[in-house]
Order: sequence, then C-alpha cells, then structure tokens
Amino acid sequence: MGAGDGTSRPTDNAFLGPLMGGSLEVAYAGALSFMRRRYSRDLAGIDVAVWGIPLDTAVSNRPGARFGPQAIRRASAILCGDPQYPFHRDPFAEVAVIDYGDCAFDYGRHAEIPATIQAQAAAILDRDVHLVTLGGDHFVTWPLLQAHAAKHGPLALVQLDAHQDTWDDDGERLDHGTFVARAVRAGLIDPARSVQVGIRTHAPEDCGIAILDAYAVHEEGIPRTIERVLARVGDGPAYLTVDIDCLDPAYAPGTGTPVAGGLSSAQLLMLLRGLAPVDWRGMDVVEVAPPYDHADITAIAAAAVVQHYLGIMGPRLARRGRAEMA
Ligand code: MN
Ligand code: MN
Repeated sequence: MGAGDGTSRPTDNAFLGPLMGGSLEVAYAGALSFMRRRYSRDLAGIDVAVWGIPLDTAVSNRPGARFGPQAIRRASAILCGDPQYPFHRDPFAEVAVIDYGDCAFDYGRHAEIPATIQAQAAAILDRDVHLVTLGGDHFVTWPLLQAHAAKHGPLALVQLDAHQDTWDDDGERLDHGTFVARAVRAGLIDPARSVQVGIRTHAPEDCGIAILDAYAVHEEGIPRTIERVLARVGDGPAYLTVDIDCLDPAYAPGTGTPVAGGLSSAQLLMLLRGLAPVDWRGMDVVEVAPPYDHADITAIAAAAVVQHYLGIMGPRLARRGRAEMA
C-alpha cells in the first residue's frame, strides 16, 4: 500500500491496468470487465478472450439472458484480487486474458444472427486464442460449436444443464432447446464421447449422448460423476457448455427455465475441478437472466464457473505452454 495518493488503489483497470497479473481494485467501483481484465479487441499475444453474447430471443419461457454478460462481469469484479481455493495462485500471472467485449449483431435481423456469431467467434479462434463466452441464452452454443468444430474437428460435448436441448427443428429457427440435435446432425460433436450432467427434464431424443441426470449425481456423488464423465470424454478435444440452470433454483434463481432438484454451486465447482484432465478447447456459460436473480446469486455462480475454468486450465492456456506441447 502506498501513501494516500490514489495510486496504491488504482481504478478502471479494465482500461488502465496491466495486461498480465491480477489487479488490485475495489470491487464496488470502476469500469467493469470480466475479472478486471483489459478491454481490448487486439488479439496479438493474447491467450484467452472472454466474450459476451447478449442474446435472449431464442428462449421458450422467461427472457432476460441478454443482460447476462453485464451481470457476470459485475459479479466477477470481486474475484480478481481474491485467489480462490484450490488454486492459490494468480491465474493471470502467466496467461494473457482480455475481455473482448460483446458480440455485435442486429437484434432485428434474426435470420442473420447465427452466422454473425459464428463469424466473429471464428475470427477469434483463427488467431489461436482460446474463447470463453458469456451468454446469452443457450442458442448461442450452436454457432459457437460451428466455429470450434471448424477449427478442431468433432468435439466431445460436456453439457451441464437441466435440459437435454435435443429437440428437433428445421435448422432455421432460433430456439435454445435444439442446438444439441443440430450439432449431432451436423457432425460438430461426437455423441459417443458426449455427456449431459444435471438433467431433470425429458426430451424425445437423446441423440446418442449419455445422460447423468441430477438424481443420479445426488445419489452417486461428485467423485463418481467425475469418473463417469472422464471415462466418456476420453483424451480427444472437448467443449464445455454450462447452462446455469444445471443448478437448483435455490442456487440459480436468475434463469429463464428453472427446474427444481438441481446441483448446488459447490457440487458444480467440485465437478469442474475434477474435469481438469479433459482437453478443453473452449467453453461457455449461458442462461443467466438477471431480472429474476436475487442478490446476484446466479451471476456470482456463473462468474465462479469461468474463474474455475481458467483455474483448471491454468498454464495450459498460455501460448508458451501450447508451443511446448506442440
Ligand atoms: Mn437448461
Ligand atoms: Mn440449455
């Protein structure tokens, strides 16, 4: 701490702070970015881009997820200078993470939205930058999977969700409950290596994807659930999508289609930590709908999910680490 000249507690690190290293900034003020990372569209030398997609026109029930990226950024402000168990280290000491801002799309031109999201995601991935996306409703995972599979080939999908999202459609609609069926049909994900965890509602098709429903998770416990997910996914490339409604409404009231009987936030974070061995190529957290939230419960959970993802990935996300692995 320096003398009271204001410089010992800088503010607005989203614009004025360093690229590397956690930043000391009060949690209650300053320009908001994800975990106080620098807002930038310059991808040179960047390992991870955190990106928002403020879309909620594909929901079947309550809208509001368009406010998700803002709320998650706000909830993440306290996490930057507060290393969490079990990592005990500054995730930004070795990994260059920026907040890339939000996806730009015309909310009135629905038919153009998927391709617009896909193109902007692909432009980030083309620079060998790891993409972490804040939704938005779960439709956004469709163009994200298109972009990731174009780069990495078919992916194992690990989906934490109350819902299967395997409803069929004609491929033209914007619906947050159909992206999984589309992705299997398009060959973007390998159903034999994919698994859904926390499911509480039934859809007509499972598309060949394994289901660990929420009651099985409660009965068998998180360690056994981790074993089953790791065995299913194997060593190949994988994509993680976290629909925050995998949590019980007690832990995530701020979401569009809540279902009782879900996971606790502690169970979710323990599960994520156990999935560290997976070859993750990207992730999203979706369906945070702040108008139904209370005391930022849901936004805090979503921010912690991304923080833990960065924690389990650790130095693997750094360009230096990727070069050594290649
Ligand atoms: Mn859901
Ligand atoms: Mn979903």
